Formats: sequence, C-alpha cells, structure tokens
Amino acid sequence: MIVGIDLGTTNSLIGIIEKGRPRLFQTSEGTSLLPSVVYFPGDPAQSPVVGTPAVEMKVSFPERVIYSAKRFIGRGISDVKDWQKLLPYDFSGSSEQMVRFTVGDKSYTPMEIGALVLKHLKTLAEQELGTEVKKAVITVPAYFNDAQRQATKFAGELAGLEVARIVNEPTAACLAYGLDKKTEGVVAVFDLGGGTFDISILRVSGGVFEVLATNGDTALGGDDFDHALASHLAPLIHQATGFDPMQSASSKASFLSACEKAKRELSDQTEIVFSWNHDAIVFEHRLTRGDFDEAIYPFLKRALLPCVQCLEDSKVSTSTITDVILVGGSTRVPRVRAFVKEIFGREPICTLNPDEVVAIGAAVQANILSGHTQGMLLLDVIPLSLGIKTMGGVVSKIIHRNSTLPISATEHYSTYLDGQVAVDIHVLQGERELSKDNRSLARFQLKIPPLPAGVPKIEVEFIVDANGILSIRAMELRTGQTASVTVNPSYGLTDTEVESMLMASFENAETDFNQRFLIEAQMEAESLVRATQKSLLQGSHLLDPDQKAEIESAIRRIEKVLPTQEREEIKKACERLSQATEKFAQDLLNHAVKEALSNREI
Ligand code: AMP
Repeated sequence: MIVGIDLGTTNSLIGIIEKGRPRLFQTSEGTSLLPSVVYFPGDPAQSPVVGTPAVEMKVSFPERVIYSAKRFIGRGISDVKDWQKLLPYDFSGSSEQMVRFTVGDKSYTPMEIGALVLKHLKTLAEQELGTEVKKAVITVPAYFNDAQRQATKFAGELAGLEVARIVNEPTAACLAYGLDKKTEGVVAVFDLGGGTFDISILRVSGGVFEVLATNGDTALGGDDFDHALASHLAPLIHQATGFDPMQSASSKASFLSACEKAKRELSDQTEIVFSWNHDAIVFEHRLTRGDFDEAIYPFLKRALLPCVQCLEDSKVSTSTITDVILVGGSTRVPRVRAFVKEIFGREPICTLNPDEVVAIGAAVQANILSGHTQGMLLLDVIPLSLGIKTMGGVVSKIIHRNSTLPISATEHYSTYLDGQVAVDIHVLQGERELSKDNRSLARFQLKIPPLPAGVPKIEVEFIVDANGILSIRAMELRTGQTASVTVNPSYGLTDTEVESMLMASFENAETDFNQRFLIEAQMEAESLVRATQKSLLQGSHLLDPDQKAEIESAIRRIEKVLPTQEREEIKKACERLSQATEKFAQDLLNHAVKEALSNREI
C-alpha cells in the first residue's frame, strides 16, 4: 500500500485510489484539507497540535503557531528576513543554515514542522484503513531545487514514511485529470496555492508525460493576497479607529484571518461588507471585488514573467497548448482565472476541486507504483545546469538545464600540476560561465596518486534520480580510488534567485564567454610555459644559443602579455613559443628514444 500526499503550504491532503476511484481521507472536521499548521503548547509535556485546532490557537498564541512552513524549506535567513514583519512567529538562523522557528525555548526546522503534518496525515489514513501506512508519494512544486526536494524527503522519513517517489505537482495534476489518455497534447498547469506559484508546460504523447519546462516563484501565493488586502485596509482602520491592526502579533493574526475570509467571499460575490472585531475595536467597510483585484494586481504582474519564460523555454507557442489546468486554492479568484485566460488564450479547466487535484494525482502515481495499475512514464526536468569548477574558475557543465529526469552524465578530467595528490571537486548549479557567478552546491576531495600533470584519469559522474536529487561520484580510473557526495538539504535557493540567475546568464552571456575564453587562453599559456621550462631543464644541451635565446624571449613575451587580459595577444605569444620549440621538441623526443634504446637489443 502506497499513499499519495500533497504536502501544501496552507493545506495538506492524503489519499489512495480505491476500486479505480480517488479516496481522500477526512480530518476530524470532516474535510480532506488538513491545515499545514502546528501549535506548540506552552506545557512541554503536551504534544504539538496539528490542523484546525492549531489554526484556532493563532489568535490567542500567535507566537506558538507555525504555518506556511513550506515557504521556508531549503532557505537561509537572508531569503526570508523581510517576512518577519508579516508573520507573528519568530524565526532565526545563520546565513549558512536553514531557518529555524523559535517557539519558547525550543526551535524547529521547516522539515520538522513538515514531519508533524505528515505524521498526522499518516495517522488519518491508518485510522480509516485499519492498517499501517509505510510508504508514500509526496508532491513538491515543480520549481523546488534539489535541496528542497531532499528536505521534503527527509520530512517524510522523520514522519516514519518511506518516500517512494517525489512527484512534481503539475505532473500529479495532469494524472488527476487523466490527461495520459490523450494521444497528443501540450498542457499548461497554472498552480497558485497559498505560498507558491508554479507554471509548467508538459507534453502528453501516447500516455507519456514530459515536462517541457517549469518556472515559478516559491514566494508568491494566496498569503500575499491576504497581505495585499491587509495593506489596503490597515490605513482605513487606523484612520477610523486610531488602532493599527498590524501592531501586535495577536491583532495581526486575527486581522489577517479576517482578510483571508473576505478574499474567499469575494470569489463568489462582487461586493461584501468586511468586518473585523478585535478587543474593543469594531470595524466595518464595504469592499468590492474591484478593490481586491486592484490590491492583488502587483502579484499577478509578478506571475507574468515566469509564464513568459516557461513558454520560451518549452519552445511552444500559446496556440499549440491544448489544455490549461488550474491548481491551488488561489485559482478560485475570478481575476486569476481571467489572467490565465488572457495569457494562454483559452478557458482553463477546473472541473476538479483545485485544492484536491494534486493529492488525487499523487494517489494515482502511488497506485501505479504499488503495481495496481499500468503506469505511465513520468519525465521531469531539472531547472538549472549542474557542473563542476575547473582550473581558472571556469565551469564545466555536466548536466544541462531542462534535461529530463532521471539522468546521469559522465565527464573526464585530468590534473594541471605535477605530483598533485588530491583534486577538489566543487559542484556548481547555474548558467553562468564562471564558477564565482554560480551557486555552490557541494565540495569534496578525491585523493589521487602523485603523477605528472595530465596523466591521472578522473571520471566524474553526476546522477539526478527521478526525485530530482543529485549524487556525484568521482573516480581516479588507474587506482579505482573514489569519492562521492549527495547534495544535502542544508541551504536552499529561492525561486527569485533561480530566476535572477537565469536572467543574469542571458544578460552576461557575451562578457561571460569572453571571460571564459580569456581564462582558458591564460591557463593554456601558463601550462605551455611550465612544460617548456621543464624541458629546458632536461635538454638545454640540445639547443644552440640562437634557439635558446628565441625560446627564452618567447617565454618572456608570454609572461608580459599574460596580465594584459588581451586574449589575441596571449594566443599569438603562445603560437610564437610553439613555433620556437618545434625543433627542440623533436630533438628531445629523438634523444629520449635513443636513450631508451641504448644498451638494449631489439
Ligand atoms: P493551497 O495552498 O492550494 O491549499 O491554497 C490555499 C490558498 O487558497 C490560500 O491562500 C487560501 O486563502 C486560498 N483560497 C482557498 N479558497 C479560496 C477562495 N474561495 N477564493 C480565494 N482564495 C481561496
């Protein structure tokens, strides 16, 4: 038995496929949506509370209730420090580590919060099924990087679940709609939840899904709509009552939940009366859907760039898109639906409950993995290229961006200096040519036997599994010495960073390439000088004074032009040295052969 789980920012769901139909397990409140919210009681003897009872504690104990934890997965403090003024609970962390939520004298990672939610879901399923649940398929936003996927897998393990597969949410959405039955099609999945936005374009062909491209923003969603409405209303409340609803943690929590309620009402009605009662404050205000649409407009605008980028990456035009699917609670907002129609030029499909689509798809995938039904092949892509740093700080890309998963690739390298006893493998992610402009994922060392430069044969293999998790293995082929690493979920990358890394790579493409070619020319020149000097030590007696003077002058020329950054000059100087040493190299070789054969019989 494998269950399907949608571990959402706002709500999480768990389900299975039973007799060919989806069955989502219900919480004690009689709904399939378990709020991804955890309350830590002040008394340490009491266990943490998950779900609706935890949500109810938001107003009385705002600093003890952790919600939207998924937004923090795989992030460092610098990514999220701006959120502190919007969130009533505390968090902290060093720049190198994932953020931790502070509750009383304890602190928790986003993975631990995820694990508490997952454990609660597991119990719901076990109670209804009357059997233990050990394995799960868990969905993640398509844009999650490998650190964030690892963190999600780790949360599953903490909850006592073996994670059979991490599936991208849009892929799950397609499975839920049974789009695999289509012989041919191109599907856009627009997923706007509580805290994340994902846009994905998939090709469906003969029951096979291929994610052509993904894009998005892990810090954009319905929570932002609540805050936008709050920013619109807070000055009005202040003006009318002299009270700032954002001033204390408890009034902020109660005010934000009133905004969220108003937002939902505005999905069904064009005009409502917003009302907020807190302590002695009573505030009522007529609110139109137009007011709300205007407040959320900046966030819709932010969703546009990822859509355009995704279309561009997938190399499809909007006219080839056959279906547009809506996922996530925030796609109930009429302005969002209209926005999707404007971009993709067709009416989106929303016959399934947008909150349940992903969980149903996870259950379908779980059913396939359990062997209960014939499965489709799922192909996903990696969002950024992966490679290693080579000499001079240049990146050697091993797996290219948007390659379909799972994938493995191998490259061969050698050493640059004589007698090197170790090589540093520095794993990088990004599109730029120079390592300093890419994101560092991991570093490890491979010990090698001391040999002349260029002799060791080092094989580096990158493997990205079906869950998008990266492992790297390096091997010195003569000795079989290996070293390996799996990228750990210690510190993630925000989507804004992924986006800006991509933008930077386009903007800097020409300068980057020129810089790369310059570094390569410099490295080649240095290596040529070193090799020539070594040969001079061994065989200068083979040279006549003129030849020797010309070689030395050519070396001096290289040393002079090296710091000038003039690639053409460096190349010319290298050519001059190569020409000057041509006869010398031949003589050296003949001499070595003669030496080797002397005193031997053939
Ligand atoms: P999800 O992360 O997919 O569970 O989506 C949750 C988000 O959807 C939250 O921000 C909710 O406030 C929002 N949401 C749920 N129902 C509605 C609705 N009827 N209208 C607008 N937003 C909604």
